[in-house]
Amino acid sequence: MVQPKYKRVLIKLSGEALAGERGVGIDIATVQSIAEEIKEVHATGVEIALVIGGGNLWRGEPAAEAGMDRVQADYTGMLGTAMNALVMADALLQIGVDTRVQTAIAMHQVAEPYVRGRALRHLEKGRIVIFAAGTGSPYFSTDTTAALRAAEINAEAILMAKNGVDGVYNADPKKDPSAVKFAELTHVEVIHKGLKIMDSTAATLSMDNDIDLVVFNMNEPGNIKKVVLGEAIGTTVSNKA
Ligand code: UDP
Repeated sequence: MVQPKYKRVLIKLSGEALAGERGVGIDIATVQSIAEEIKEVHATGVEIALVIGGGNLWRGEPAAEAGMDRVQADYTGMLGTAMNALVMADALLQIGVDTRVQTAIAMHQVAEPYVRGRALRHLEKGRIVIFAAGTGSPYFSTDTTAALRAAEINAEAILMAKNGVDGVYNADPKKDPSAVKFAELTHVEVIHKGLKIMDSTAATLSMDNDIDLVVFNMNEPGNIKKVVLGEAIGTTVSNKA
């Protein structure tokens, strides 16, 4: 059997990944199929942490633009990520994958609080840990949460699973047919070229902590496993390219 390329990874799913065809909300069948795929990846022996966004339910910035207080709007968004985390944890548990949710905002009845040492122990024991409620602070994104938690748990890479986008291009491939996909990039290039992989806070945090980013299309079944086994799909961002 092929050995995984990584020992420990953090998978970042956007909230929209859970919405399925509808584009908003949570589609249980979609969550179940992602859970099945994660189970297969987990069976390779790689340790997995997950950060799931909340954009399928709520985003703070547009709510603030519509007149809501930004901090209140962002807390609402963080609660959305907790809903996604609970649904995904349930889907994983139901197919026999030991999973824990840790949240950055205390909600003792529904999830463990985020405690780094406990998260590390869960991972060492082969449990999947889902980090919910973002960083626990407004004005941040779940991309930044992914970069922060990946640094804290010493993940070697963040797998940026995208909906229908198979990597990073020099232009929008949907608008410009001559757009070229990068196989490899450095974090500095991502920041200087303003490439829209993740927000700039998340990009600098991963650069400073030397965490690779792999951007790939999760709509093709089997792709998460391919990345974990080291197959060169999508775009890899590292400090060494
Ligand atoms: N959010 C926040 N702090 C964090 C993470 C998230 O305030 O540390 C809020 C913010 O309002 C954001 C929302 O949660 O719009 C949902 O997260 P995000 O937009 O990153 O989700 P995604 O686009 O990945 O689905």
